Formats: sequence, C-alpha cells, structure tokens
Amino acid sequence: MTQSSYSTIAEALQWAYSQLAATSESAHVDAEALLLHCMNKNRSFLYTWPERQLTSEQFKAYSQMIAKRQSGTPVAHIIGEREFWSLPFIVNESTLIPRPDTEILVETALNLSVRHNAKVLDLGTGTGAIALALASERPKWRITAIDKVPEAVELAKANRGNLNLTEVEIIQSDWFSAVEQRDFDLIVSNPPYIDEADEHLHLGDVRFEPQSALTAGNEGYADLYYIAEQARAHLLPGGYLLLEHGYEQAIKVREKLIELGYQNVATVRDFGSNDRCTLGQWAD
Ligand code: GLN
Repeated sequence: MTQSSYSTIAEALQWAYSQLAATSESAHVDAEALLLHCMNKNRSFLYTWPERQLTSEQFKAYSQMIAKRQSGTPVAHIIGEREFWSLPFIVNESTLIPRPDTEILVETALNLSVRHNAKVLDLGTGTGAIALALASERPKWRITAIDKVPEAVELAKANRGNLNLTEVEIIQSDWFSAVEQRDFDLIVSNPPYIDEADEHLHLGDVRFEPQSALTAGNEGYADLYYIAEQARAHLLPGGYLLLEHGYEQAIKVREKLIELGYQNVATVRDFGSNDRCTLGQWAD
C-alpha cells in the first residue's frame, strides 16, 4: 500500500475497514471514529466530503491508530476518550471504559423520587461516568463518588474539571471506608461483577481493562453482595440502593436484596433488553 492510494476520506475508510475486518467486530464504527479523531471533524463531514484528501500527516497518524486497533487496543484508549450520557469522558488503562449499558442505571436513578437535594453516593466511580452524568442532570444533588484505585480517583477528578461539575465530591475509599459515618438517599454502583473464570475476559476490549474494575469472587457476586450488605447502614429511611450487574445475575441479586431486608426490589432492563440493574429501598 502506498500512501497516495488511500488518501481520500472514502478510500482511507475503505482501507481501514479492510484492515480491521478480521480483528474487530465493529470495524466500520472503529474506522470512522478513528478518522474523525485524526481529522478533528464530526461524522457528517465524512459523509459530506468523501473525496476530501487527507494530509500526509493525517494519513500517517491514521495508519498508526489503525495498527493499534488491529493489535486489539480499544478505540477509547487510542483516542483517550469515550462518550457517556452525551458527555465526553477522558479514559485510560486505570479503570473501566464507560459502557452504553450503564446509561440505564443513570436513567433509573434520575426517575427515583428522592428529595431535590438528595445525598448520593457512587461506589467504584472509575472515570466518574455515573456520578458526573447524574450531576449534569441534577445540579442540586449532593453527590459523592469514591474509588479504591488512586489513578481512577485522579481520572474522575480530571473528568470533573473537564465537565465543570465541580460540586461532585471525589475521594479515595475502599467501598464505604472513607464514608463510614455518612448516610445517603441513594447509593449507586457499577461494581466489578464478572466471574473470574469467564472466558470472555480473554476476548476483545476487556483484555485492556484492569481486573480490579471487571472481576469479583464468588462467581462475580462478591462485591455486589458486599455493597448490598454494607449499604443498609448508610441509607437514610426510604433510601435507594441501585446496582448494575451481569445480565444473568438479576435473580440472585434480587434474592440477596430481599434476604437483606430491602423492599420494593425490582430489576430494570438495559436498551438491549438484558436485565442490567436491580434496585431496592431501605425502609427503616
Ligand atoms: N458490563 C461490563 C462487561 O460485561 C462489565 C462491567 C463491570 O464489571 N462492572 O464487560
């Protein structure tokens, strides 16, 4: 391949697609996202100007990105960003790349009837995606986000600054350890919940994400159960616990919440129709 043979937008995309087809399930989307990033343009530009030439610098940068993607690196890590709840989040190797599935957790939280200045805790915030998305919609909520991993705390703070959502408190904490004395109207979490033996961990983008953000003991239930147990001591009367979990974990999570004394326990499906979040209310 010579540089000039693939130098229009249409040709560059076609070339990139053919490079990625064998290794990425999302070759078209990836090829486009990386080109948009290289050219610093939006998607309609690509469709409107397919004959536009890439500069040689752009093509070189694009080829390098395509090579990284070919070797498996997630697009979000290559461009250093991922959109969640229509907000741009800086991402890196220290934590989970925000997933579209998690937007249902945000939506569910926003639909709960809590007081206008609710105290909210996000456990294992990672990039800060959930806490900052909630803050963008509910400026009066008093939101605290915690993460155990110092690099994730720094990342969430960088996103807080970038999104100018300065009211959100972000602290390093091993689950509830740094908020022992505090109570909340709503506790949310997308904890690690994948079984350590799950073979999907050897495929695709998850290979580039830290185990600390993905896997938990007890077939993936250890952190979900731990949070459910501990949250009872940190919920105000009528407060809600809202947990993301794997699509096959809903029954056991509901059973656990009921066993622990939560009321109004219910599961919500994500936009792909998979069971994704379960919530319960703490009555006394
Ligand atoms: N939903 C993610 C996945 O299946 C995992 C997120 C998590 O463990 N919290 O890749």
